[in-house]
Amino acid sequence: MALIKCSECRTEVFEKAKSCPKCGNCRNISAIRGVAFWIMREYLQLIE
Ligand SMILES: [Zn+2]
Repeated sequence: MALIKCSECRTEVFEKAKSCPKCGNCRNISAIRGVAFWIMREYLQLIE
C-alpha cells in the first residue's frame, strides 16, 4: 500500500485515506486528484 505525504502537515498517510489522520482537514488525496483532473482537462482541450 502506497504512502503519500500530507501537503499540510507532512505526515505520511495511506494513499487510500480520504483525509490526514493527524490534521484531519487537509484533503491531500483529493487535491492531487484535482490537479490531475485539471491537467487532463487542459490536455483534452489541446487535442480538440
Ligand atoms: Zn495532515
